[in-house]
Amino acid sequence: MSSLPAPARRRLTANFHFIKSCNFRCDYCYATFADLVGRPVLPDEQLFELTRRLARRHTKVTLVGGEPTLYRRLPDLLGAVKAEGALTNLVTNGSRIDVAWLQANAANLDFLTISIDSASADIQHLLGRAAHGGKTLSVEHYTTLADEARRRGIVVKLNTVVTTRNQRDDMADLVRRLAPERWKLLQAAPVEGQNDRFIADLTPTRDEFDEYVARHRDALTESEIRVVDEPIDMIRGSYIMVDPLGRFFDSADGTHRYSDPILDVGIDAAFAQVEFDPDKFHARAGDADYAARPDDTVGGVRVGERASTTTSPAALELARYTLEGR
Ligand code: SF4
Repeated sequence: MSSLPAPARRRLTANFHFIKSCNFRCDYCYATFADLVGRPVLPDEQLFELTRRLARRHTKVTLVGGEPTLYRRLPDLLGAVKAEGALTNLVTNGSRIDVAWLQANAANLDFLTISIDSASADIQHLLGRAAHGGKTLSVEHYTTLADEARRRGIVVKLNTVVTTRNQRDDMADLVRRLAPERWKLLQAAPVEGQNDRFIADLTPTRDEFDEYVARHRDALTESEIRVVDEPIDMIRGSYIMVDPLGRFFDSADGTHRYSDPILDVGIDAAFAQVEFDPDKFHARAGDADYAARPDDTVGGVRVGERASTTTSPAALELARYTLEGR
């Protein structure tokens, strides 16, 4: 179980899956929260209180779902994170944002992470990365989002899940066009209770995943795009995650394990009930947005300045070695 010292703010990212609902139906989705009855979300007051606590504790808060843009007060939630001085990241399928949305939210959005699994509409459709009626998003829509976000000072990132259905695909042209600051490649992973129905057929072997990564790294050698690969064993236990009911959870053992509600027992007590491995987090460069290049600017402000209240190197070092049983 996890135990970290208690600095003012930790150079770590909290991933708040604050909403269960999604308008897409990706067959591999490991954040369906199918094990949560109904469509639970915290009441607004609790949602904002918990968000503020996470923002006071972490250098960056990533708002994720489900699909976060389905929540009508998402702009206010982003504002709440910024008001506490943390960086904001939004992970979205891109279906419900446009130029006007980016314009309205640019001041409170540091990173926009778009999830795209293929340039091919057929493959996206095959994966379920499509709206209920089967409609996929166009390459033009994605590239407009990326260009317009960048124009407003938002750092663009890209997530792709590698499965048996897109493992032979070639994304290089689209990725060059999108020009994300970072392209994260995730090996589709079985998470018991989340994606049991299709995942056995969708999970690529490690060799197949590595081949996809190597092929695209080769193709993008000349670009400045940072390609980050996360095989299953790297993903598990390396993310700090909070579920729609306001509980920490981990998938270190291949299924979701939940803490008690953070607002009931406190953030430290809840965090101690789940597994998080800081070594893995750093090995996958989980802190790259604010640690590796502190002189970079986001929204006109040095990342290093924003993170000025973060954990000291000594405390971070300690954090790496305070996991129980190590
Ligand atoms: S868009 Fe994201 S949250 Fe929605 S089904 Fe796909 S992977 Fe899951």
